[in-house]
Amino acid sequence: MEKLKKSPYLYEYQTNNGDFMYVNSYTNLFLKIHKEEKKQFDQLLIQHSEQERTTLIENGILVPEDFNIEVENKKILKEFYEKKEKLHLIILPTEGCNFRCKYCYENHEANRMSEDTIEGIVNFVREKLPEYKYLQVEWFGGEPLIEQNMVTKITEKLRSLCKEFKKPYFSSMTTNGYLLTREVFKTMFSNRVTNYQITLDGLASTHDKYRPFANGKGSFDVILNNLKRIRDEEKSQFIRITIRCNITNPILSIFDDYVDLLEKEFGNDSRFGILWKVAWNPTPENESDEYCKAGTLQTLLKKYQSKKILFTPVAEQFKKFGLVCYGGDPNSFVFRSDGTISKCTVALDNPVNDIGKIKKDRTSEINNNIDFWTKHNFAPICTDCWRFPSCMGIHCPRNNRDQKDNRVCPGTDDDNNIYLEYIANNKNMYMEFKDLWKTTK
Ligand code: SF4
Ligand code: SF4
Repeated sequence: MEKLKKSPYLYEYQTNNGDFMYVNSYTNLFLKIHKEEKKQFDQLLIQHSEQERTTLIENGILVPEDFNIEVENKKILKEFYEKKEKLHLIILPTEGCNFRCKYCYENHEANRMSEDTIEGIVNFVREKLPEYKYLQVEWFGGEPLIEQNMVTKITEKLRSLCKEFKKPYFSSMTTNGYLLTREVFKTMFSNRVTNYQITLDGLASTHDKYRPFANGKGSFDVILNNLKRIRDEEKSQFIRITIRCNITNPILSIFDDYVDLLEKEFGNDSRFGILWKVAWNPTPENESDEYCKAGTLQTLLKKYQSKKILFTPVAEQFKKFGLVCYGGDPNSFVFRSDGTISKCTVALDNPVNDIGKIKKDRTSEINNNIDFWTKHNFAPICTDCWRFPSCMGIHCPRNNRDQKDNRVCPGTDDDNNIYLEYIANNKNMYMEFKDLWKTTK
């Protein structure tokens, strides 16, 4: 029988109570082996029946001894660049905003999409959609709800194309939540916007400082009220609302109360998830007490992991392609309000991000800048990396460029271990040793 070895994409972590978590970023395996089972598991890796062998290979625990990671990495890249599943559009109907968030990198120009740009997007989708399995549209801005009628109008046109080509349509929105009243939510829901990302930067005392209205007025109470009304009055189980927090040191000082609020208001509703990010210093050349030190996020996750709140992206990041940014995905396009086509939603002023234009005649043109985003440039550091199937070295293509083609990894193994500790404590996020055998028919 051909000899086997452990998969190079398999990662082992010993949890705080001595159990073991195994994750494979190619097969999306999350396996927990209790400490009492570890000996038996290790023995099984050496001695197994034909059927056990199949299960161990299918789950990416063992691979043939001649498994060559460089060859396999190339196959993964090929699969990623050739797949045509989702046509992904990020549409900025306006770059104007009713807020003036302290850390915002956009210039809030209140331009709105012209008729030519809207028709140009529709023509772009008409041409491309037949090659894909479905269309996913993300509304972004500026604040997209300033242009509700335009969102509805573009949605109708794109959904009618999806109907024509018999392709499913999905939609999500990043909004500051201020205008998301119950009535507006109903309209957006009928536009099939089912997933939202809304930011609450701590409690009113911090949020209103970081995310004031354009006239300086606070926005916390209105947003929280909008969220509570959706929670209480919306019956659909198909909605997903991610409450984001951009963490800074002032927010950390009230974080216990903030987490208590999240748990009390949204903790028992699986439609509401939590996303925490550490806020970037917009002027990194100026040191500031305001911005948190590295590792803050992991410390918070550890501290609050027993709270009844759902952390949204924890498992995704270990899955195949789960860490790849849409900026590096050849099937993803950002349409800006002035008709510019881009890849990244952060480097809006960077010339390399200008990959094309919707023209006056409502056709579109893509230029050579797209190569920067979608031609893979393999970094030696990635060759032996167990996370290659999830990250592929393009976790942030913009950063790669800034780092002169070195790579900034999305977290260290210590960071990953904290996420795996979280997964190990959440029964619905992993399978047990006994479940492994159910995966093979
Ligand atoms: S900054 Fe990096 S991770 Fe963010 S959208 Fe741009 S390319 Fe993607
Ligand atoms: S960038 Fe880092 S985490 Fe990503 S594949 Fe390369 S070495 Fe691995």
